[in-house]
Amino acid sequence: MTATRTPGVPIVEDGILISTSPATGAEAGRFPVSDSAAVAAAVARARPAAAWWAGLGFDGRRTRLLRWRALLVERIEELAALTHTETGKPVADAIVEASAAIEHTDWAARNAKRVLGPRRVRSRLLLAEHAGHLEYQPYGVVGVIGPWNYPILTPLGPSSGALAAGNAVVLKPSEYTPAVGQWLVDTFAEIVPEHPVLQAVHGLGDVGAALCRSGVDKLAFTGSTATAKKVMIACADTLTPVVLEAGGKDALIIDADADVAAAAEAAVWGAMTNAGQTCIGIERAYAVAPVYDAFVAAVVEKAGKLKLGEDIGPITMPSQIDIIRRHIDDALASGGRALVGGADAVQPPSVAPTVLVDVPEESAAIREETFGPTLTITKVADADEAVAKANALPYGLGGAVFGKRNGIRIARRMHAGMVSVNSTLTFVGMGNLPFGGVGDSGFGRIHGDDGLREFGRAKAITVRRGPSLLPAMTFERTPAQVQRIVKALKLLYGRRP
Ligand code: NDP
Repeated sequence: MTATRTPGVPIVEDGILISTSPATGAEAGRFPVSDSAAVAAAVARARPAAAWWAGLGFDGRRTRLLRWRALLVERIEELAALTHTETGKPVADAIVEASAAIEHTDWAARNAKRVLGPRRVRSRLLLAEHAGHLEYQPYGVVGVIGPWNYPILTPLGPSSGALAAGNAVVLKPSEYTPAVGQWLVDTFAEIVPEHPVLQAVHGLGDVGAALCRSGVDKLAFTGSTATAKKVMIACADTLTPVVLEAGGKDALIIDADADVAAAAEAAVWGAMTNAGQTCIGIERAYAVAPVYDAFVAAVVEKAGKLKLGEDIGPITMPSQIDIIRRHIDDALASGGRALVGGADAVQPPSVAPTVLVDVPEESAAIREETFGPTLTITKVADADEAVAKANALPYGLGGAVFGKRNGIRIARRMHAGMVSVNSTLTFVGMGNLPFGGVGDSGFGRIHGDDGLREFGRAKAITVRRGPSLLPAMTFERTPAQVQRIVKALKLLYGRRP
């Protein structure tokens, strides 16, 4: 039986997942759906692959990962075209996404040894006869579950760290973007043909749930807060550790000494790139009174120039259109005004840029993740009010500040894992900075040193080098030796600063 097809909505026919373009309905690919036995089999295949991969050591893995990075660069046009077909995003946006993924793969490959490799740690005086060693050993098999909005970067952020750390990875791409996920797996296999070090399992949400329960040693999830909670519950059964990268409602603060034109340019890009379907997309702007009018005018001018189909692609997941429409309608019904777009902006499969002002803070457009090309701009008295309003939501993923004198100070006060000063979204592109949120936006980090450590278990080893001067950890200690310990403690730690 053939199911009815809506462009962009994946369907399963006879056990085959069929992915289509949300813009044209063109088929992007077909992939066998994995049941839980197939997920378990993939994880079982990954175990010996993980052991072999770990055995290559940091240097062997670095070479392979750098070769894969080079392949990604050589075939970036092909990857961008496929991503364009499957998500509808403009090819230029797909190139930008791929460039961040390439940067993270390069960085993880080059830095894993420094961050995770064996090292001596300095002995402490009380245990001076023992040497300390520290290293981060791979978990084994890491499950990666990713969303559809950045189908190259969101799997590659955690996967590059996990692979560089010596783990095998089983990836469950979003049902909306299986073709991009499979492309990544296939190209990795061209570079690493010996064992299935990176595999994909396809299907709907239940396949992700099966991966959580499959016995993977760690699970890295990127997606909505609601699904993150389900993932954590599923992983609790087996005490499988998780890193959760969930949704956001990122705010931009424009302080009085901001470069207003630059702030407007960054705000429009931060809010509208990828049609606003960006976890770290700017959804709310708070401009202090002295620059509010100029900022609004500049944003209106820039957002008004964006072209549907050229700068702004379709909404990848058609059901999201209802949420975007609800947020715009709610904002307008509760006293907000649309200076660009508005109720008519929703033109399935796309949504035109929409800039909203005078929206009450209780509105869904301010409180909930919209995931569309919309931006609310709110006037505030000063940076303190802006910070209070920015921090008023349970989300805390990223954020941005424009301002000269107090930019960094304001950034520090924002309830968010990452903030860009005088730009938007920049932190996601720096391989050496950790990425992750607080509160409802999740916990744990990918990218950077912290992101690498997320995929290695700290292993502490002590090695005795000689007899103990202060033998505390033995029943053979004498009362005189205990007295010596007390004396040493008083000498070393007894003085109040
Ligand atoms: P979802 O949470 O709906 O899905 C994410 C992934 O989880 C998909 O692969 C999905 O599979 C899978 N999944 C669904 N149900 C389960 C389950 N019960 N157990 C395990 N896995 C499951 O998110 P979206 O794909 O809609 O992505 C958009 C969301 O992702 C937004 O909230 C956005 O903010 C967030 N996001 C966060 C990022 C971050 O780094 N913090 C980055 C990018 C996006 P299927 O698609 O087959 O249902």
